[in-house]
Amino acid sequence: MPPARILLIEDDVPIRRFLRAALPAELYALEEADTGQQGLRTAATSPPDVVLLDLGLPDVEGLEVLKRLREWSSVPVIVLSARGQERDKVAALDAGADDYLTKPFGVEELLARIRVALRHRSSASAPQAVLQCEDLKLDQEARRVYRGSREIHLTPIEYKLLSLLMRNAGKVVTHRQILKEVWGPHDIHETHYLRVFMATLRRKIEDEPARPRFLLTETGVGYRFHDI
Ligand code: CA
Repeated sequence: MPPARILLIEDDVPIRRFLRAALPAELYALEEADTGQQGLRTAATSPPDVVLLDLGLPDVEGLEVLKRLREWSSVPVIVLSARGQERDKVAALDAGADDYLTKPFGVEELLARIRVALRHRSSASAPQAVLQCEDLKLDQEARRVYRGSREIHLTPIEYKLLSLLMRNAGKVVTHRQILKEVWGPHDIHETHYLRVFMATLRRKIEDEPARPRFLLTETGVGYRFHDI
C-alpha cells in the first residue's frame, strides 16, 4: 500500500514540526500548506486522502476553506482548533468537517483520528449489514440489537440514534447532525430530546450508564460511538 497522503493546512510552525515528527513516513506522506489559498491549490492539484485543517489561518478563515473545499471534494477533513474556538469547531463539523482535534493534542489521538477518517473513506462505498463493537451487535437488515446473545429492545428513535452513531464509529457526530437525521430538519435545536433519548439508550446498552463505554459524550459538540 502506498503511504496515505495527508495535507496539513496550518500556519503554526511548531504544530507543523510536531506533525512532521509524529506521522510515520512509511504510512503517511505529509504535504504542508501555510495559508488557506495554498491549501486549496494543493488539494486541487494533488488530491489528498485526509486534510488536517487549522481553523485560524492568516489569509482565509479555516471555515471558509472548508466550505470552498466541500464544493468539489468529499475528502475527510479533520479540523485543528484552539481552546476557545468551540463554536467554530461545531460550525466546521456542521459544514462538513469529519472530526476535530483540540490543540494541544497527542500523537496517539492524532493517529487514531486519521485512521478513523481513512477507514470511513474506504468503507463509504461498502455498507456493512452487521455492525459490531465487542459484544454489542446491530443488525441493520433485521433492525435488531444484541448484547452477546441477549436481544435488546429499542424504540424506533433509539434504534435510529444507535445505528447513526455506530455507522460513524470513532467519529464525532454533532447534536445538530443527530437531530436532523433522527428527528428531521424541523427539530435541529431540540437538544433536550437528544439528551433524554441518549439517557434511555445508555440504560439499555451500557453496563454502567453513568460511565458509558460505547456512547461517549463530546461536551458542547455531540456524541461519538467508541471506535470499533
Ligand atoms: Ca493558526
